[in-house]
Amino acid sequence: MNPPLPQAPINWIAIFALVFLPIVAVIAVPLYAINHDFSLSAWVSMIVLLGMSSLGITAGYHRLWAHRAYEATLPLKIILMIMGTFAVQNSILFWSSGHRTHHRHVDDVEKDPYSINKGFWFAHMGWMLHDYPAAEPNFKNAPDLLNDKLVMFQHKYYVPLVILVHTGILLPIGWAVGDMWGVLLLGGLVRLILSHHVTFFINSLCHMWGKRPYTDENTARDNFLLAIATWGEGYHNYHHIFQYDYRNGVKWWQYDPTKWLIWSCSKLGLAKNLRRIPSFNIKKAELAMKFKYAEQDLAVYGHNVNEDMANVKTRIAQEYEAFTHTLNDWAKLKEQEIQAKKASVAEKINQMDHKLKMDFQLVEQRLGHHRQTLKVLMRNIKKNTVSE
Ligand SMILES: [Zn+2]
Ligand SMILES: [Zn+2]
Repeated sequence: MNPPLPQAPINWIAIFALVFLPIVAVIAVPLYAINHDFSLSAWVSMIVLLGMSSLGITAGYHRLWAHRAYEATLPLKIILMIMGTFAVQNSILFWSSGHRTHHRHVDDVEKDPYSINKGFWFAHMGWMLHDYPAAEPNFKNAPDLLNDKLVMFQHKYYVPLVILVHTGILLPIGWAVGDMWGVLLLGGLVRLILSHHVTFFINSLCHMWGKRPYTDENTARDNFLLAIATWGEGYHNYHHIFQYDYRNGVKWWQYDPTKWLIWSCSKLGLAKNLRRIPSFNIKKAELAMKFKYAEQDLAVYGHNVNEDMANVKTRIAQEYEAFTHTLNDWAKLKEQEIQAKKASVAEKINQMDHKLKMDFQLVEQRLGHHRQTLKVLMRNIKKNTVSE
């Protein structure tokens, strides 16, 4: 059962944005559709503006300001600030400070501002409907943002900026395409509601549905379908273990439009110093989890081990030894790196780094093979138990 929520005053501004506006949409959109029909331009404006406001949050609020996963030039910062303001999710300072607390105290019922352990609705939007005391008063965890002029400007003039951004974007589009009400309803209202819930899914469903390939120390999950809905933020298990990486979908083929946007901006000279976690560390986390899952599989049938299974168990143990050896080699290498920062050493380190990565890949391949054999053996045991 979820613990009882503390009493806190209702936040009426949030009620207006998150409850009242959807009620208006549910009534006004069908009424307008019946009486006037929406133009194709209004539909297109909804999709384009949804992308714009959502990427303002993912590339701007989240990866740039909350995590400092890369550096942006002033023009890019201004564009991202406008895009993020258009998503109406409070100021960069408020959002980022709360998000840093989420990472620091993830799943903690008291300290995580949107802890999933208080249930789906609380993590999704309930946490905003009340004025809960800030876990990090006075934005103490965001001194960098308190010193950022653009961030503080947006924080100070947040409400006028929200109004200005909305009139500055929606009215010219509505006028240009000749469907003012269509654009206001679809590009304005419906787009805002969709963009809200897309972001909220990251705090709710991305902590509930999906796999945990990198860590099981928190509830965050990797989920391809959620990545599609959330502009790449659905690889949330990776993000919670390596939050400073500018990529959430770290593999090149993973669907992460936010990482592609940031990478493209870097090629255009608008962003630099994109932070990437060394691939060795990523592989290490992934392999450690694979061993953990293999161990769990073995534990289930531990009491029922036949000869074949005992063999697989021994082989997995051997692979684990090889894994630990590679880890030790890596530790030694890092030690050398710290002791001598000379070019010749750097060269050697690069070669070794490559060799150790290959070692990991071999271990991974063999482990995958053993786990497959284990699965077949387990299936056979199950079949035999049922037929007995
Ligand atoms: Zn999270
Ligand atoms: Zn984050």
